[in-house]
Amino acid sequence: MTASRNRSCLRVAVSLPVTDTYSYTVPKLLIAQIRVGMRVRVPFGERTVTGYVLGEAPSLEIRQPLKEITDILDPFPLFHENMIPFFEWISRYYLHPIGLVIKNALPGGINTDTYRSAVITPAGAGRLEKGGLLFAEKECLLWVKDHPGARLPRPLHTVYRLREKGLLELVDRIAKNPPRPLLRRFIKARNGIQLEEIVEGRGSARSGARDEAVFLERVLSSGGILQSEICREFGNGRYLLDKWVRRGVLECVDAPVYRNPAGELIAPPVLPEVLLEQQTSAIEFLNSRLRRERFSACLLHGITGSGKTEVYLRVIEEMIRRGRQAILMVPEISLASYMYGLFRSRLGDRISLYHSGLSRGERYDQWIRAVRGEVDLVVGPRSAIWAPLPDPGLIIVDEEHDTAYKQENPPRYQARDAAVVRARMEKAVVLLGSGTPSIQSYHHSHCGRYHLLQMAERVERRRLPEIEMVDMRPETEGSEKGEIIGRRLREAIREELGNQNQVLLFLNRRGFHRLYVCLTCGKTIQCPNCDVALIHHQDNCLRCHYCGFHSVLYTRCPSCSGRRLKPYGFGTERLEAELHRLFPGVRVARMDTDSTKKKGSAFEILKKFGAGEIDVLVGTQMITKGYDFPNVTLVGVLAADLSLGFPDFRAGERTFHILSQVAGRAGRGTKKGRVIVQTFNVDHYAIKTAVSHDYEAFFAQEMELREALGYPPFSHMTCLRIKGNSKEETAEAARFLGEAMRGIVAGWPKRGKEIKILGPAEAPLFRVKGKYRWQILVKGDQAALIRHLVEALEGLFKGRLQSRGVQLSVDVDCYQMS
Ligand code: ADP
Ligand code: ZN
Repeated sequence: MTASRNRSCLRVAVSLPVTDTYSYTVPKLLIAQIRVGMRVRVPFGERTVTGYVLGEAPSLEIRQPLKEITDILDPFPLFHENMIPFFEWISRYYLHPIGLVIKNALPGGINTDTYRSAVITPAGAGRLEKGGLLFAEKECLLWVKDHPGARLPRPLHTVYRLREKGLLELVDRIAKNPPRPLLRRFIKARNGIQLEEIVEGRGSARSGARDEAVFLERVLSSGGILQSEICREFGNGRYLLDKWVRRGVLECVDAPVYRNPAGELIAPPVLPEVLLEQQTSAIEFLNSRLRRERFSACLLHGITGSGKTEVYLRVIEEMIRRGRQAILMVPEISLASYMYGLFRSRLGDRISLYHSGLSRGERYDQWIRAVRGEVDLVVGPRSAIWAPLPDPGLIIVDEEHDTAYKQENPPRYQARDAAVVRARMEKAVVLLGSGTPSIQSYHHSHCGRYHLLQMAERVERRRLPEIEMVDMRPETEGSEKGEIIGRRLREAIREELGNQNQVLLFLNRRGFHRLYVCLTCGKTIQCPNCDVALIHHQDNCLRCHYCGFHSVLYTRCPSCSGRRLKPYGFGTERLEAELHRLFPGVRVARMDTDSTKKKGSAFEILKKFGAGEIDVLVGTQMITKGYDFPNVTLVGVLAADLSLGFPDFRAGERTFHILSQVAGRAGRGTKKGRVIVQTFNVDHYAIKTAVSHDYEAFFAQEMELREALGYPPFSHMTCLRIKGNSKEETAEAARFLGEAMRGIVAGWPKRGKEIKILGPAEAPLFRVKGKYRWQILVKGDQAALIRHLVEALEGLFKGRLQSRGVQLSVDVDCYQMS
């Protein structure tokens, strides 16, 4: 957009659920300021909405009469042009409206949204007094009267009717003030002013002058200093400041300061004196790829403790030297803070930590720094894939197998897959790293799509921890009925604690008791809104982990009023209590979503554990990720089989990853580590291969199964979810959609055979948050063909479903199948 002529007609994505982009003209007044990547206000139908400028309008559309942009919302672009093809790809591939993709990508704080409010007209006020209104109309008018300027509750039927009658007027308002960068007052010398001139010009005048010279020198040599700071340093700072501003020597400017997202160091990282041979060769290979400035995808298969982080550090350093930027993604926020601390201490402060746990203002600041080219590296969980860097040359996805990279609400993207796509668009190198790569990525490395780098040795030849499996089936000898911590594990904990070592216990289940069964009628206590049992928590509350329903512990069965309720099963809270009972005085901490709701609390727990203030850390999946605690010599896995029960073709893969990951937490320091795995499935291949550290065997067996059943990576799979309040309507809609899909596919003579439609079937969790759920799985060799089918379907039926109160959502490359 160089010539202003081209700027007069723009292509805009609106933040509404519509597939297309739209063209708008720019009023003359705004032409000079408008840029690609800015947000604008545009009229759309009857409303005014936020839109994002994507570029010039396609020339075809310019001839039509177009509506005008009403306002520009940003002083500078929020993303560069290089992001646009990426947004478009995400939108197309994951079937999500482009405007909403961009809205999701931008830091939450800046998405000003409009809402509708209303004011009563004089005619309306008159009618309220005189009466003669329908009940609903009167209610509505009274509501507006009582809530001046508030968002109108939906649906707006009555509101529209009242407006037609001239009793109401609608007003579009902007929700919340968008956060602005934090501005502070700086003092600096006016351009062209030399210190010597002033100081000399003042000659050796009065005696108080020495202080003044020091003051001026301080300001001038700083190149710009915070007003508050200089006033703190000099008692008469305020006076001197005013004086020299008046004389035209100094000036005040307001400039943004960046709020620092606290990233304390957990442990100062040591710079290794010599790299391992495997590290050197990986780094050399990657650097040679960086130099080519072309797209390249590499998979780094380095077992835990093989020194992958050092490899990341070195290639990032190389990238920065070459003048481009890098993104480092990790699966989790707390891990991101940890990595940020580590990398900051090595690479300086041109690093940004970006994640949803930051405040709105902080996120905005970090975003703007990246847009302006003020950072070389962005560290974060999956949302870091949106980092608006001008020229990223390297994207690293650590622990690439982790399912946390899949976003489970719209847009339902897979950030690791998206990273590969973004790298291709940016002519960048993408590096996927893992100790136990995902089946998909390892498969890609076998068929040549990714270059495979292997690091099979552990730093300082530390041995992999020995894993011991304990059979917990009640009929097996040695395991006592109902024990959470078996005898083997109990003894091991006692021993390690006696030697002043630390213990990590992994249990992927929250809560205290898992369920209550009525001994009279045999029913479990269920959530009234969902198809699941209520979980008992320590605060004597029953909670639903899906909808948040909670109630005090029942004393009678809600079905039969029987008084004999018996608890079964256990979660992390119960395990914590059990540890206190078995080992009085032991310092235990628990890390799960319940104990880490407060911002920064996860980080706090990890810090304490790292500092040795905690003996045993109990936790869910949260503790399995790559932190390095050298003093942990024992890792216990309770109920290793939990993840096998998921209704999901990736259940085996998930179990293998979790176990390998947890096991990798033992013996990270110089001390030898051991792992004890309690399970009911000693013969399951995923558990057996994890216990013997045999990734290749696991991969071979898993691939065989997937191939036999035609699951990814041997196919693509998309899940359609159908949700509704009415049991019958939802079932009916699901059946109807299934038939329609089969009809569409039958109409594609040849290619239709490549697509398989499974279902509709009731979802494994049939009822959640009061809604009934059905699903249809679509399998096929080609992602594009599946997409084509779903688009055709959505086009035909979306309206029809909505009118029946049924929602259809599409999950491309689905992970969750519950
Ligand atoms: P992983 O591959 O599991 O990510 P890390 O990168 O965490 O492994 O490395 C494990 C440990 O080894 C870390 O404490 C790291 O500082 C250390 N380390 C990495 N490279 C070397 C090296 N060349 N020499 C000595 N220690 C190293
Ligand atoms: Zn519920």
